[in-house]
Amino acid sequence: MRRNFHAKRGTVIHAKDFEEWLISTQSRRGKIGFRAFETECIDGRCLWMTETVDKDGWMLCVANDVTCLKAKTRSVRRDRDLAIKASYTDELTGVANRRFVSARIEDMLQPKGNGEPPLGCLCVLDIDPFKSINDQYGHHTGDLVLRDFARRIHDLVRRTDCFGRIGGEEFVLTLPGTSCGQAQLIVERMLASVRKARPLQDHPGFRYTFSAGIAAAQLADTAISLYARADRALYMAKLGGRDRIHTEEPPGHQCTGTA
Ligand code: GH3
Ligand code: MG
Ligand code: MG
Repeated sequence: MRRNFHAKRGTVIHAKDFEEWLISTQSRRGKIGFRAFETECIDGRCLWMTETVDKDGWMLCVANDVTCLKAKTRSVRRDRDLAIKASYTDELTGVANRRFVSARIEDMLQPKGNGEPPLGCLCVLDIDPFKSINDQYGHHTGDLVLRDFARRIHDLVRRTDCFGRIGGEEFVLTLPGTSCGQAQLIVERMLASVRKARPLQDHPGFRYTFSAGIAAAQLADTAISLYARADRALYMAKLGGRDRIHTEEPPGHQCTGTA
């Protein structure tokens, strides 16, 4: 997609900044079982695309050339698709929004049908004293930090996971099929990446951190109860000094840093 965008061929991409478009697209792509949409090509062709995702994240994409079909109402359909995309996207950072990521938490908690608890973890990530970043450097700079954070975390999110902004400086990460030990390793990498970040050109010494709370899904969990435990773990990480992870351990379970 990147190569085609710069060579001005392939799919029409309505974005000035390709990398921003890519983050936004990747944060939702392959996270739901099936989707279908119409796409225009720079050479004037129009394709009807279907994407079917299997449980391991592999995707079957089928493109049908529908250039000569219903061309008159194409712009209406395109506007509808853009509106659907906007309804799932966080405007500031381009990653998934609360609505999209909440549905992925529900997906993760779907019973497997064998009485086994749904395996997976939920992580809540929150930037450390973000209010003081706003207070010291201004709201616009705070926004730049939010965008930098979203981009860095996005780079470390696996295809089957979903990362989104649920409000302010708070984000969540769903990790289906993942033990809390594995989740800790993934989030440790994220902490390390953010520690290295120097996102403000005008303030090259500026750095920031975040804290994370992890909770493992249990059999009786709803999205609300799982989120509440991850949020409580986040609170413990903040109390413990910030720039760290706290994991809410399920009863009789001990989470270690190893997978
Ligand atoms: P803690 O380490 O305990 O999380 O402290 P904090 O300062 O990060 O947390 P607090 O909840 O006190 O402050 C969050 C701030 O985030 C306050 C609010 O003004 C700011 N904020 C919320 N949404 C946005 C946004 O879209 N852009 C910017 N720049 N700031 C935002
Ligand atoms: Mg915060
Ligand atoms: Mg917060």
